[in-house]
Amino acid sequence: APPVLAVVGRPNVGKSTLVNRIIGRREAVVEDVPGVTRDRVSYESEWGGKTFTVVDTGGWEHDAKGIHQRVAEQAERAVDVADAVLFVVDATVGATSTDEAVVKLLRRKGRPVLLVANKVDDISQEADAASLWGLGLGQPFPVSAVHGRGTGDLLDAAMDAL
Ligand code: GDP
Ligand code: MG
Repeated sequence: APPVLAVVGRPNVGKSTLVNRIIGRREAVVEDVPGVTRDRVSYESEWGGKTFTVVDTGGWEHDAKGIHQRVAEQAERAVDVADAVLFVVDATVGATSTDEAVVKLLRRKGRPVLLVANKVDDISQEADAASLWGLGLGQPFPVSAVHGRGTGDLLDAAMDAL
């Protein structure tokens, strides 16, 4: 089976938009309001001659557990089946306490992680992305999933990690 690249992060950071960008189709459901999509969805894709499976995550229900625990659970389940992880953060919001909890989990798992600073739609937002160095996951990759900015460099690095 091809290697698995899991896309994890809080609701609304742009995971499904990024997955659509990666697969070159519009199959992942993009939501303005989080909480409706299916649990976990896999798509086969290809980059630089390499075939891989990309796993979108999402589908939190608004129940008593709360969003924080839901994000951590989803991330954990996806990461357990992944060979490498794209951890997506909304650079226009910055790192939240939920993001920091996911970082701890990712560290424990020991999989290769690429930190995606999404919603960097133009160069003036690069500084927002740079502040994500503080998460301790190394270099943030500034991308705009909507416009495709930076996603080629991200995928090049992801293929090296797979
Ligand atoms: P998910 O919940 O993490 O899967 O996020 P979605 O992919 O459903 O996107 C949530 C919202 O963020 C949607 O309104 C998207 O159009 C928007 N969005 C996603 N990527 C970008 C981006 O690169 N730039 C901007 N400005 N908006 C984005
Ligand atoms: Mg989604």
